[in-house]
Amino acid sequence: MLELNFAPMWVEKNGVGVVVVIHDLTAIRRLEQLRKDFVANVSHELKTPITSIRGFAETLLDGAMQDDETCKEFLTIIYDESLRLQRLIADILDLSRIESRQLALQTEAILIKNVIEKIVIKVEKQRRMNGQQLEIDVPHNMTVSVDLDRFHQIILNLLTNAMAYTPNGGTIGLKVMEQKHNWTLQVTDNGIGIPEDDLPRIFERFYRVEKDRSRASGGTGLGLAIVKHLVEAHHGTIHVHSRVGKGTTFILDFPK
Ligand code: ADP
Repeated sequence: MLELNFAPMWVEKNGVGVVVVIHDLTAIRRLEQLRKDFVANVSHELKTPITSIRGFAETLLDGAMQDDETCKEFLTIIYDESLRLQRLIADILDLSRIESRQLALQTEAILIKNVIEKIVIKVEKQRRMNGQQLEIDVPHNMTVSVDLDRFHQIILNLLTNAMAYTPNGGTIGLKVMEQKHNWTLQVTDNGIGIPEDDLPRIFERFYRVEKDRSRASGGTGLGLAIVKHLVEAHHGTIHVHSRVGKGTTFILDFPK
């Protein structure tokens, strides 16, 4: 239902002229609801690791510390959960900075091959552990005008997702293509895929197809929301194609 709010702003001195400002309250209420949902989600997401840290610390203090094995196991959980908390807080702050437009891009011309090489080194340990193939197809001398750190963040996010949602032994591809007026970056995997009904929602904050799988892989549920904002800040677009059990492709298009 459309809700309108009429606010008389100005009355002409010698006449009857009235300026009426119409606010669409539907949009305002929707924004307010989004904000409330976000706060509720953040509280819930923060509570989960904190409860776990507290529970395991309490059990240790209650005597479990006597047993070396248990002690090590519980401390590892506490350590992992504190890392998750740190990642979550970093992502929340990042997202709120981006959304309140406090993000100033420091654009520079970079050799795209160099950025990709650095990211490949970063994910190499995980890739080996997962026994996955990484196929890179990037033009040698292509330069692009981007914010280096933010661009790094975009690719790393998509690549770590592709690895997290692809079974061991799978293949992940990263391809960059140059056209006349734009250039395209594709991240492809032959992993679990995303159901058609979920596809339109995966860029929403905290939206996950499978909560448990996302948590197990260390995900915060904010990665794609951040990526979408960063791509748009570069005047680009992001699209996704996916088939359950076959794999997923993210396609990013940027103007030259
Ligand atoms: P998360 O931290 O949970 O990975 P993201 O915002 O990065 O959060 O992604 C949102 C959701 O989209 C994920 O929880 C997952 O369900 C789905 N998703 C993202 N990338 C892929 C992919 N390459 N293959 C399958 N599902 C994916």
